[in-house]
Amino acid sequence: MTSYVCPDCKTPLVDLHCAPCAHQFARSRGFPVLLPNDARFQSSRKLVETYDSIYAEHTNVWENQGRTPEFIRFFAGLLARFSPRRLLEVGCGEGVLLAAVAAGEKHGTELSVQALEKTLKQTPARLAIALGELLPFPDKHFDLVASVGVMEHFIDDHAASREICRVLEDGGHYVVLIHEHLTAWQSLRQKTSEYLFPRPHPIRLARWLLGKIHKPIRQPVQNKFTAAGAKACLEKSGFIVSEVIHRENTPEAPLIGPHVIIYVCRKAAVVSP
Ligand SMILES: [Zn+2]
Repeated sequence: MTSYVCPDCKTPLVDLHCAPCAHQFARSRGFPVLLPNDARFQSSRKLVETYDSIYAEHTNVWENQGRTPEFIRFFAGLLARFSPRRLLEVGCGEGVLLAAVAAGEKHGTELSVQALEKTLKQTPARLAIALGELLPFPDKHFDLVASVGVMEHFIDDHAASREICRVLEDGGHYVVLIHEHLTAWQSLRQKTSEYLFPRPHPIRLARWLLGKIHKPIRQPVQNKFTAAGAKACLEKSGFIVSEVIHRENTPEAPLIGPHVIIYVCRKAAVVSP
C-alpha cells in the first residue's frame, strides 16, 4: 500500500486523516485529494478547476506539444535504463508515459481528476491529486521520478524541485523535460519547422490549428526558463545533472524543437540546506 503523508506536516495519514493538523483529506471519484492547506498554495484549488476543464474538453491533450508516440517510446526508454522499482510521475496527465514504462510500482500525481480517470484506464497505477511543491509521500520513497513539460508550470519551481529531491532515495534519479521559453517569433519558427519544413506533417498541422482555434489550451502558470536557468534550479535543489539531452547533441531524439531539453539528474547523497 502507498503510505501517504500529510502534504503540509508530512505525518503519515490514517484513512486520509492528519492528526497534528486535525485535517481530513477527501476523495474525489475514488482518488485521494491531497492538496496542501498551506496558505502559499491556495491557488492550487483554482488550478484544479482549470486542468479539469482542459482534460474534460480534450483527449490526447499534449500530443500537439510533442508527446507523439515516437517521443513516448523514446522517453520511456530513458526511464527503463534505471529499471525502476518504484516510479513516480509528477503531472502524469492521461497516463500515456506511465503506461509505456515497466516498473515494480507506478505512482502518479496530477491536479485533474479527469486526467487520473484516463490514466487508470491506461495502466494500473497509484494515483492522487497533489501539488508538486508539497508532495504527499514520505522521504526517500522512490528510486525514480519523471516529469515531462511540468516544471515550467509549477507555482514555485524551486520548492517543487526540492520536494521531488526529498521523495527520492539517495542516488535516485529524476528525469525531467522542459520547454525553454520562446518569444512569439521563435515560437512561429518552431511550429513551421515542426509541421512544414523539412518534412511536412499536414495532418498534425491541421489538428494543431483546429485546436488553437476551437479549444485553445492556456496553462495558468508559465515559468520562462532558459536551459541554464532550469539546470541551475535543479542543482540548487539537490540534484547532480549527469546528462543533458537535446536535438543538437542527440539528433535521433524525436523532440519537437531545439527548445526541448531533457535533464537526467541524480540525487546528491547529502543535500545542503
Ligand atoms: Zn498534517
